[in-house]
Amino acid sequence: MKVRALDELIDLFGRLPGVGDRTATRYAFHVLGQPRDLAAHLASALTGLHDRIRLCERCGNYTEDTLCSICSDPRRDARTLCIVARVQDVLAIERGGYFRGRYMVLHQLIAPLDGVGPEAMPVAALKERIEAEAIEEVILATPLSVDGEATALYLAEVLQTPQLRMTRIASGIPQGGELEYTDHVTLEHALNARRRLSL
Ligand SMILES: [Zn+2]
Repeated sequence: MKVRALDELIDLFGRLPGVGDRTATRYAFHVLGQPRDLAAHLASALTGLHDRIRLCERCGNYTEDTLCSICSDPRRDARTLCIVARVQDVLAIERGGYFRGRYMVLHQLIAPLDGVGPEAMPVAALKERIEAEAIEEVILATPLSVDGEATALYLAEVLQTPQLRMTRIASGIPQGGELEYTDHVTLEHALNARRRLSL
């Protein structure tokens, strides 16, 4: 079948991550089968996306204003700062609703193999925030990958002051996970990060 408008849409959907040819085709037929509203909404949401969204001046989160909703929320605990690699990580932590502190989004990790060195880290901005916001604890929540660990170690080193509590997220066995099916690196991390049981 050759319907150029449909083929074009299928091709565009197919460029999204995780969308194969069949799913792209399903999406395109679905949009066509719905009232025009859906197509119009999709089109306008996509057209305005890059104009409307920018980075929060303080933490690098996505926002439509100068500050993001977390930085401008006075109920958030300014004393705890969680450093993450990506905005998606903020969303993941926020979904749980248990973290009440604020964030700093790096948008990249130190990755020597990709030519990203320590100078890409927002060290000056972090130091300024730690002082200005009287931050007491910095949680290094970069991924538990080689680059994530290198970034966490570097930041811990340059940000450390006697007054600051520097912590790293623990890695370990997922909830309900069997030790038998856990890879040996995760198992080793889990053993190293063991904590005392308070009885
Ligand atoms: Zn922010």
